Amino acid sequence: DASVCTPLPVLGRDVLVPLVTGGEVTYAALDYAASAPALQRVWDDVAAYAPYYGSVHRGAGYLSQLSTDLFENSRATVAEFLGCREGDQVVFTRSTTDSLNLLAAAVPAGCQVFVFETEHHASLLPWRDAEVTYLNAPRTPQQAIETLERALADRDPYGPALVCVTGASNVTGELWPVKELAAAAHAHGARIVLDAAQLAPHHPVDIAESDVDWVAFSGHKLYAPFGSGVLAGRSDWLTEAEPYLAGGGASRKVARRTDGGVDVEWHTTAARHEAGSPNVIGVYAIASACKALTEAGFDSLVEREQSLVTKVREGLAEVDEVKVLSLFGDDAPRVGVISFVVEGWNSSHFAAALSAEYGIGVRDGLFCAHPLVRTLLGSDPQDPGECGAPEAEPGERSLNAIRVSFGAGTPDEHVERFVRAVK
Ligand code: PMP
Repeated sequence: DASVCTPLPVLGRDVLVPLVTGGEVTYAALDYAASAPALQRVWDDVAAYAPYYGSVHRGAGYLSQLSTDLFENSRATVAEFLGCREGDQVVFTRSTTDSLNLLAAAVPAGCQVFVFETEHHASLLPWRDAEVTYLNAPRTPQQAIETLERALADRDPYGPALVCVTGASNVTGELWPVKELAAAAHAHGARIVLDAAQLAPHHPVDIAESDVDWVAFSGHKLYAPFGSGVLAGRSDWLTEAEPYLAGGGASRKVARRTDGGVDVEWHTTAARHEAGSPNVIGVYAIASACKALTEAGFDSLVEREQSLVTKVREGLAEVDEVKVLSLFGDDAPRVGVISFVVEGWNSSHFAAALSAEYGIGVRDGLFCAHPLVRTLLGSDPQDPGECGAPEAEPGERSLNAIRVSFGAGTPDEHVERFVRAVK
C-alpha cells in the first residue's frame, strides 16, 4: 500500500521503503538479496504507462503498437545495460530460475554441465537432462579456476559443454572470478552462463567484456517488481532448440498437414522462447530499472554500498559471538550481502527478534543454497537435512544462518540500527 510508504532519497529519485503499519518505527528492509524494493523511478514509469497497456505483437490499434514498442525498446535497453554483442538475444522470462531452466532445456543433446556445489539451487538444479559434474567448494577464487580447469581437462573435448557460475553469492556476497572462469571454459571448448541475480543489482555486468556466453537475472532483485527476468546471450543454442514454451507468439506459421497433423515453423528470434502474451509491464519495469542504475552510475552506487559493507563488517567484528560466513576469507570483496551466525543463538530466533524488537527485516535459513551453507557452517554438505528453521539449543552449533543484505537506497540508519541491535 503506497500510502504506508515513505520515500527515501536514492539515485537522485526515491525508493519506496514501507513503514511498519501503525507503528512509530521505520521498517528497515535489509533483505535486498531476496527482493529489493522497487525504485520510485520504476514505480513512476510503470504508473505512467499502466493505463495504456495493450497486447504485444498482437494488435493493430494504438495501444497495442505502443506496448509493442515499449516491449521491444525494453529489449534494446536491457541489451545495452548488459553490454550485449552483435547477434546476442535478450529473452524475457519470469525470473533467473526460469532463465536457467530455459537454457537447460536448450542445451544440445549430450551436453556436459559443470557447476560448483556452492551455487544457488536455481543454478545447481535445472540441468536434470544433462550429464552434470558437481565441483567441490573452492576456498579461494584461484582454487575455483583450478578446480574448473581440472574438471574440464578430463571432459570429452568434442562434445558440447556448459559451465554455470554465479557472479556474486547470495549467501556470502562474495564475488566470483567470472572473467577467469569464462577464459578457462572457453580454453576447453565449453560455454559459460553467468547467474547474475545478485551481481547485476550491485555491479556492472558486461557480457562482451567478461566474455560469458549467457547472463541470467531477475527484475525483483534489480529494483523492479516481481514476475520478469532475463536470459541474454548467444543465439545459436537458443535458436536451434525446441521452444521452451510452445504456443502463440513463438510460432511463425502453423498449418494442418494432409495426414492430419500440424506443421509449425518457429521464430528464430527471442520470440521463439516467449510464447504467450508477455508480461509487458514487468519487462518495462526491468528496462526502467536498468536505465535508472545506468544514469546513477555504478561507480557511485558501488562506493556507497561498500561504505555500508564496511560499517556492517566492522560492527559485527566487535561482537565476539558473531561469526561471518565466508568461502574466500573475511577480507574477500563482496557486495552488500553478509551472512552470519551468533553463538548461543538459534538463527531463526535471532532474525525474529531483529524483526519484532527493532523493525529490521533480514532472512534466516539456508538461502536456497543448502550445500554451500552447510559447508560454511561446518556441517555435512551431503546431509539432506531440513529447510526452514531447524532447532539448535543455545550453545549448540547453528544449523542455519542469518543474512543481512542491502543496496541502493539503504539509509545509513538502517545498517547502524542493525549493528546496534546485534550488539
Ligand atoms: N541465483 C541467485 C544467486 C539468487 O540469489 C537467486 C534468488 N535468491 C536466484 C538465482 C533465483 O532468482 P529467482 O528467485 O528470482 O528466480
